[in-house]
Amino acid sequence: MNPQNPHKYLIVANWKMNKTASEGVDFAKKLAESSVGKQTGVNVVICPAFTALGAMSPILEESTIALGGQNMHSEAKGAYTGEVSAKMLRDHYVHYVILGHSERREYFKEDNAFINKKVKAALEASLKPILCVGEKLEEREAGKTLDVVKKQLEEGLAGIKAEQAEQLVIAYEPVWAIGTGKTATPEQAEEVHAEIKKILANLFGDKGVKVPVLYGGSMKPENAKELLEQPSIDGGLIGGASLEVKSFEGIITEASKLSKTIVGA
Ligand code: PEP
Repeated sequence: MNPQNPHKYLIVANWKMNKTASEGVDFAKKLAESSVGKQTGVNVVICPAFTALGAMSPILEESTIALGGQNMHSEAKGAYTGEVSAKMLRDHYVHYVILGHSERREYFKEDNAFINKKVKAALEASLKPILCVGEKLEEREAGKTLDVVKKQLEEGLAGIKAEQAEQLVIAYEPVWAIGTGKTATPEQAEEVHAEIKKILANLFGDKGVKVPVLYGGSMKPENAKELLEQPSIDGGLIGGASLEVKSFEGIITEASKLSKTIVGA
């Protein structure tokens, strides 16, 4: 986080296709009761499977932890078997939604144009989109990282107005670091994050500078500090390490310690 522009860290759990509703409730109770659930120096979001949202929502209502969806459709309703809309997420008091995750891009062939429609639909429904961008290993090796990320941002955010930018969150997730145990070095991550911030400033001016940019890719308690203390990293999107209360709490605690130093929270 940039000490010149202090704000709260944002730590987001992406559970992917893990945990039933009752397992989610159990986790939410434990986390909400821990010191992490009560502290205010860090914004915490959990994105469980759709099936767990309804049961987890009342548990988290009283806590500082928010709920997010892992995906949604761009249409408001209709014949889209298996899909959920922004309004259906809002109905469970969901405030965030992950869009354009690399697994959606890869396995479900989602492209920037479709993701852009979803970003617009989420904003219209007062959901904060967490737009994921990031390069594959071969793209990094070919020196194309910044071009790939720029295209994903420009096309994914096409038509979004500067006033709406305040609701956006970006997650930089190098695809080669997701679920592989390989983390980008703090320098590699910072280089791309700094570029993302420039692109956001070009797109949205002053409002773009304030958009939180999270790092995702094998973040864990052991490497969270060195990543989060980079000036252009505002938080984390966590997969594997968010599945256990202890490791997720460990990452939030690292963010909390840093925010006390930077923000004085
Ligand atoms: C993710 O899928 O968003 C992610 C960052 O996963 P992991 O932390 O397991 O690499």
